[in-house]
Amino acid sequence: MRAVRMTAPGVLEQVEVPTPAAGPGEVLLRVGAVGACHSDLHILDAPAGLFPMPMTLGHEIAGTVDQAGPGVTGWTAGDRAAVYGIIGCGRCRACLRGAENQCRVVPVGGIGLSRDGGLAEHVVVPASRLLHIGELDLTQAAPLTDAGLTPYHAVELARERLRPGTSCVVIGIGGLGHMAVQILVATTAVRIIAVDTSVAALDLASRMGAHEVVQAGPDSVDRIRALVGPPPDGADVVLDFVGADPTVTTARQVVATGGQVLLVGLAGGTLPVRPVADEPPTLPLETAVEVPFWGTRAELQEVIALARAGQLQADVQTFALADAPEAYDLLRRGEIHGRAVIVP
Ligand code: NAD
Ligand code: ZN
Ligand code: ZN
Repeated sequence: MRAVRMTAPGVLEQVEVPTPAAGPGEVLLRVGAVGACHSDLHILDAPAGLFPMPMTLGHEIAGTVDQAGPGVTGWTAGDRAAVYGIIGCGRCRACLRGAENQCRVVPVGGIGLSRDGGLAEHVVVPASRLLHIGELDLTQAAPLTDAGLTPYHAVELARERLRPGTSCVVIGIGGLGHMAVQILVATTAVRIIAVDTSVAALDLASRMGAHEVVQAGPDSVDRIRALVGPPPDGADVVLDFVGADPTVTTARQVVATGGQVLLVGLAGGTLPVRPVADEPPTLPLETAVEVPFWGTRAELQEVIALARAGQLQADVQTFALADAPEAYDLLRRGEIHGRAVIVP
């Protein structure tokens, strides 16, 4: 079969590999759609040794069951499913609570992260990772598994502060961010302020229901403060889907005293923590800072329900498998709007 693999640090290429077979408890899935996540670029940029190599990338997968391995019940050929990408150890304290995204044994264990992923004609996954998607289109179902699930989980973590009448600043309106705006619209009554460097991303944010948009630039902190109030007032919650120095700096400068910053983006920015005796303060007092990772299986089921109810829809740009490297190039250059989805 054809697969798009990371063959060396920074190198993504289409190769021929043997079609894998489903072992006990596993299914062989015919990949119908796989989202191109910005995290794949971080994986490609990572030093050798951090991730298996060669490895087929793609952790945002939906497809059709081809073959169920020995011992699998409840799934048969032809069933359509979304794939929950995390594979925790299943035995640690976190996994036993259902928080496989906090697994203490395999912290970033997953399909397309620690074993071959979905950028291929077929992928083998544990049957326990499959979720029914009803009538959803596979190109819609795939982005739900990460671009939908990760912001949903972050919003869940911030739920306490996302009361009616509060404000939420969403930074980075790409694959995850444009889903975040819709999740906030569907599940809260907060005022949504979207921030991005790109005008096209801000247009997308407005279409998804953001109440205000601010183009990131030298004066963006002042412009956000004009909307949410100057310190010690500010945004109740900041969702940062970039995580670079300029965005974590904006996040800490616009969050309210007692607010919450969720650093979802993995761009390697630094957040100084020195809440008093600084002018301006580095981080307001009583601020909660979280580093969310992906989400739980139960949350993915809720994300799928939200999509089936018509309240969450990825803005999708599709590519053939052979064009996957080009899709990632466009993603790196900021030229993908919404989510790039590869259809093998
Ligand atoms: P994306 O490329 O689709 O979107 C990023 C958006 O941020 C783009 O719209 C871009 O214009 C905007 N942006 C870039 N620099 C900016 C700046 N300085 N100020 C404002 N906006 C800026 O990326 P994505 O797939 O949505 O992923 C976003 C980030 O989240 C990545 O770092 C990715 O690795 C990370 N991620 C984290 C998790 C997790 O579990 N923590 C899960 C998935 C993705
Ligand atoms: Zn991802
Ligand atoms: Zn575990």
